[in-house]
Amino acid sequence: MFADLHLHTNFSDGTYTPEELAAHGKRHGLAAMSLTDHDTVEGCARMAAACEGQGIEFIPGAELTAEVNGNELHLLGYFVDRENKKLLSETSRFQTVRQDRIREMVTRLNQLNVPLKVEAAFAIANCRSPGRPHVARALVQGGFCSNLDEAFERFLKVNRPGWVPKCKMSAFDAIALIHQAGGVAVMAHPGLNRTDDVIPQLQQAGLDGIECFHSRHSGGITRHYLEMAERYHLLVTGGSDCHGMNRGKPLVGSIKLPYQYVEKLKERAAKRKAGSLQPQPVG
Ligand SMILES: [Zn+2]
Ligand SMILES: [Zn+2]
Repeated sequence: MFADLHLHTNFSDGTYTPEELAAHGKRHGLAAMSLTDHDTVEGCARMAAACEGQGIEFIPGAELTAEVNGNELHLLGYFVDRENKKLLSETSRFQTVRQDRIREMVTRLNQLNVPLKVEAAFAIANCRSPGRPHVARALVQGGFCSNLDEAFERFLKVNRPGWVPKCKMSAFDAIALIHQAGGVAVMAHPGLNRTDDVIPQLQQAGLDGIECFHSRHSGGITRHYLEMAERYHLLVTGGSDCHGMNRGKPLVGSIKLPYQYVEKLKERAAKRKAGSLQPQPVG
């Protein structure tokens, strides 16, 4: 039995609907799937129903953008309560930040004589958690770039002229936010971050796990994080980080996480919900 615990839909910057994603999961024989859209849990209700229809176990989730010591990192919150007031108010605040960032990116593109309209980017996004891939798709659709890679290379990658820095919450606040919503906090794709040296500090602050298996981790990187997880007593998770048809082929099911890791995640979630894990003092 296998799971894919890192997936996006069109409730953020993925292209699949929850129903399409669940159907792909079924095709790949997944026993469990989690939805981890950026800064939102809005898609979880539909994904839960879609998974039920396919006979797949569903694990509610979200991927929060955060930072530590000036480095961006993403925190996955699993088994969060989708009705949690504080989680909803904080994610809604960050959705507004995301929308403002899209406007700012379009303004910069306009200053570069790319007459993209902000409405075009929002129409493609059609969700409350828009991101750079939506601007990239609008650039291609408007005929300003020939493909998504060109849109990122010319305009949207970090430090390119259309890029706008993101305003993020601290990793410590994100972990606390996930915990108060009854969730388990996991560092996403550590191999893509520069945050290894803060893992001990985050573990002290209650980080529950790290995503060792990820579609962009090589075998060596996966082994490195499996060792770190062991050393710091962290849970191990994994997922494809599929965004549908964005930037290449769909990745859903390309990571097959053995179900034993899902069991461990569920045990931790039960403890978090029961409040039997005391918050540890920040080191
Ligand atoms: Zn991420
Ligand atoms: Zn992701």
